[in-house]
Amino acid sequence: MRITVDRDVCIGAGQCVLTEPAVFDQDDDGVVLARLDRPTGETADRVREAVGLCPSGALRLDEG
Ligand code: SF4
Repeated sequence: MRITVDRDVCIGAGQCVLTEPAVFDQDDDGVVLARLDRPTGETADRVREAVGLCPSGALRLDEG
């Protein structure tokens, strides 16, 4: 799995950070940052959940 974030689309809602803070963070303006791009195991499960919760569609997964 590989995750990519579109910082131009993120509206800073923070759902991703609340769901998996080991992967997602926000900069001083609230815009998403990804700490790692290839999560595994339970972390990957929470990343999938976060992608589903993101209201702006800023998070994308490539399951390959
Ligand atoms: S949940 Fe989506 S809109 Fe909210 S901070 Fe994360 S990427 Fe941005």
